[in-house]
Amino acid sequence: VSFGYEDIAPEDKTARVGGVFSSVASKYDIMNDAMSGGLHRLWKDQFVRRVKPQPGEAVLDMAGGTGDIAFRMAAKGAEVVVADINQDMLDVGIERAMERGLSEGAGGLSWSCQNAEQLSYPDRQFDAYTIAFGIRNVTHIDRALAEAHRVLKFGGRFYCLEFSTMTWPGMKQAYDSYSHKLVPQIGKAVAGDENSYRYLIESIRRFPPMPEFEKLIRDAGFARTRVEPIMGGLVAIHSGWKI
Ligand code: SAM
Repeated sequence: VSFGYEDIAPEDKTARVGGVFSSVASKYDIMNDAMSGGLHRLWKDQFVRRVKPQPGEAVLDMAGGTGDIAFRMAAKGAEVVVADINQDMLDVGIERAMERGLSEGAGGLSWSCQNAEQLSYPDRQFDAYTIAFGIRNVTHIDRALAEAHRVLKFGGRFYCLEFSTMTWPGMKQAYDSYSHKLVPQIGKAVAGDENSYRYLIESIRRFPPMPEFEKLIRDAGFARTRVEPIMGGLVAIHSGWKI
């Protein structure tokens, strides 16, 4: 499987990705602003508008990291479980929740260390499953999608926000040179970590294009799948329903 520029054994990928996120956890939020010029906030706002979390709904925010998506959904009254394989990322999220005056487990939020490929939940627990900028880091995407399908109730929805393939002519080159040259340098300057950001950029480049990823979602059993490209496919919202 791919790990940034390298091909590595599948059994090593989870640990390598773990190293990346443990390394960037404390600088993760500031780096998102630095790298995207704040745009990630707008993409996340739009994503949550599409998910339309309802008061009292049970939502699993998978690969939820430091809680950016979960905070937005809890503000709409949903009961959100933030699940992530990396406790360092979750710890930053729990700290952010406390800064917002939400004690651990309060305000509709709870935090759980879980691998997306093998969830601890019984079948049909959640009304919605969200995963933002997480799925490309997972070793076996098909297993994560199968688990998403399993833990959703019938009528439940799957929403994924992920970097995709820029299709605006002319912008592709600009974007490639920005991401491959500048992002690792920003990573070095802001987070003191060039290699982790090299991995993150390369993992974006290697992620399947929209039609291919949509097919994986259908293959996992989801119906009425949809893709909504944002900014020419720089990022995309993929969705589907368990019926
Ligand atoms: N969703 C958050 C956001 O949008 O800011 C965090 C996204 S962050 C780029 C990716 C997250 O995926 C990291 O917190 C990482 O630990 C998590 N992750 C990677 N592999 C995972 C897996 N197999 N299961 C669960 N989480 C995973």
